[in-house]
Amino acid sequence: MNPPDLRPLKSGKTVFSKHESKVRSYARNFPSLFSRAEGSYLYDDQGKGYLDFLCGAGSLNYGHNHKLLREALVRYINDGGVAHSLDLHTTAKAEFLEKLEKLILEPRNLPYVVQFTGPTGANAVEAALKLARKYTGRRSIVAFTNGFHGVTLGALAMTGNSHHRGAAGQDLNGVIRMPYDGYLGEGVDTLEYLEKTLTDSSSGIDHPAAVIVETVQGEGGLNTASVAWLRHLQALCRKHEILLIVDDIQAGCGRTGTFFSFEQAGLTPDIVTLSKSLSGLGLPFALTLFRRELDVWKPGEHNGTFRGNNHAFVTAAAALEHFWSDDTFGAEVRRKGAYVTNRLTQIAATAPHSLHVKGRGLMQGLAFADPEQASAVSSEAFRRGMIIETGGPNDEVLKCLCPLTITDEELESGLTILAQSVAAVLSRRQPLPRAAV
Ligand SMILES: *Cc1c(COP(=O)(O)O)cnc(C)c1O
Repeated sequence: MNPPDLRPLKSGKTVFSKHESKVRSYARNFPSLFSRAEGSYLYDDQGKGYLDFLCGAGSLNYGHNHKLLREALVRYINDGGVAHSLDLHTTAKAEFLEKLEKLILEPRNLPYVVQFTGPTGANAVEAALKLARKYTGRRSIVAFTNGFHGVTLGALAMTGNSHHRGAAGQDLNGVIRMPYDGYLGEGVDTLEYLEKTLTDSSSGIDHPAAVIVETVQGEGGLNTASVAWLRHLQALCRKHEILLIVDDIQAGCGRTGTFFSFEQAGLTPDIVTLSKSLSGLGLPFALTLFRRELDVWKPGEHNGTFRGNNHAFVTAAAALEHFWSDDTFGAEVRRKGAYVTNRLTQIAATAPHSLHVKGRGLMQGLAFADPEQASAVSSEAFRRGMIIETGGPNDEVLKCLCPLTITDEELESGLTILAQSVAAVLSRRQPLPRAAV
């Protein structure tokens, strides 16, 4: 039998459009057939390389198939290491827990216990929400405009995006929506509203169990919360005995230049969620961290078949050891981030009315006044051999999510492609010449 023809057929159909649900999304914008990946590049079946500035929406902070992580996993498998074990004790889990404590939590003075949830970010968020509600006995949770926390029902209630919320098909309850930092424009402290409602028994807003926040809104369009705003938020939470949950699923694991994205603001959240780049190799893996006093779970109360993925324990432990034994890697990310800020600022200066720079660390991008231009630049970049996606409420923000391990040459070449693609798109839309009078 012939293998299925995976390349586009004359009819325009592929094995994917024929057999896969319409729910597929990223594949529509980058319609190549990928077969290999290494470092900062994805390769199609013809051997063409694409510089990857999407990186699994921030799930590949250490690039594709990092040699050390891959070797650690292959060794573990070849030695007959346990692959699946529900939540039984394994040597792989012990090693991961020890490394996480020694290299990440202890040096940062973060007194957390670790809950291995189901392997998706959304499941880590569900666990965080359930725990906050169980611990406080309260129902509602404060979430912010443009927040993204996953698409299972509890997490989806916290998510702002109407496209995702609309798919729920039922009421999404238990959320109090508040304006994120900057939502009402410069010079407005959006926390004043939250503070006022918390102190007014007639505000109509019930005392919440927790606040869930991203320090940089990954899917929401790279909106950043200032250090002052985050510190104020934490102070409000402490004062009103509300738990602070930082969803660090996308901004964590070094993306902003420190392991946790809230380190710069010096926060000590009560609960933290991690996933995406945690395994380091792109394997499914998520966890929820919280202060020991909050650990009111009964055994198995939040369970799941794939809590703790031994293969991910192995690669995650190797990644912590290799990248986070000291601050060298974080400092490199901060240096590259500063370079990206410079280059994006130069690009934005070519069209000051239609472009501006957003985000921080290696989680930055360009916001377009016209969302169509953002997606046109993404297509132009793809033609030039680079994968870069859009985000934000109208997909108006082009997001640079390159691997943190990217070399200076690769970063330079990606930003050059970006500059060329922006120039190509902007030159298409010359204002019409004035009619002669
Ligand atoms: C991706 C993401 C999630 C959801 O993770 P899934 O693995 O897609 O369920 C939650 N929160 C944030 C901030 C994310 O970026």
